[in-house]
Amino acid sequence: MTKLLIATRNRHKVGEIRAILGDRFEYLTLDDFPAAPKVVEDADTFAGNATKKAVELARWLSISSLVTRHSSLFVLADDSGLEVDALGGRPGVYSARFAAGDSAGSGNTPDADNNAKLLRLLENVPVEKRTARFRCVIALVPVPLGQVEGASPVCIAEKCTAQIYDGACEGKIIFEPCGQNGFGYDPLFVPEGFTRSFAELGDDVKNKLSHRARALEKLRQIVA
Ligand code: IMP
Repeated sequence: MTKLLIATRNRHKVGEIRAILGDRFEYLTLDDFPAAPKVVEDADTFAGNATKKAVELARWLSISSLVTRHSSLFVLADDSGLEVDALGGRPGVYSARFAAGDSAGSGNTPDADNNAKLLRLLENVPVEKRTARFRCVIALVPVPLGQVEGASPVCIAEKCTAQIYDGACEGKIIFEPCGQNGFGYDPLFVPEGFTRSFAELGDDVKNKLSHRARALEKLRQIVA
């Protein structure tokens, strides 16, 4: 069975990806590779960050001989975030560290702080102008197998080509957090066609219509 390393330490993302893709893969996460390098997400697009994460980890796995010759292993990296129209598309690629500002150096900030900043910036924005969308880009990279010690890093890099899948979910930002499920901006985001937030609707509904579900559906059709 094909193995999929889900390249995130966000357990909510891992849970969603596994629930959406089902049992067609054997799953690994970064918890299975404690020595895996921490990839700095300093690209200015979701696709750039997702590709960087997946390619760097695939290279590291290939070089570190942790993968046997016969296993078929892919790295799946997700980069995602929220774009708010009234804020010119912010926080975008900076969604995870919104409360700290737009610098790749600053680490992720707590969800509650990010949500509080978002509400503060939208304080005087009326409901009809609170449109937003979640975006997700998934990069899938095969881990080159059977690398011999001393193999050229260039040759390894060439085999680490990413396939890219994207998805978006339109909605709007409400005036106060509602619901306990999910993570990140879920308590503030009501998807189009609904009156309750992702955090109120719960995993089953979210995993059918979310940005991540839409990107993974494209991947599933091609990889299945
Ligand atoms: P990443 O881990 O660098 O992709 O950061 C994604 C950030 O975007 C998260 O920390 C959340 O703040 C936000 N985000 C992405 N997807 C979701 C989602 O499904 N629900 C709520 N927030 C999300």
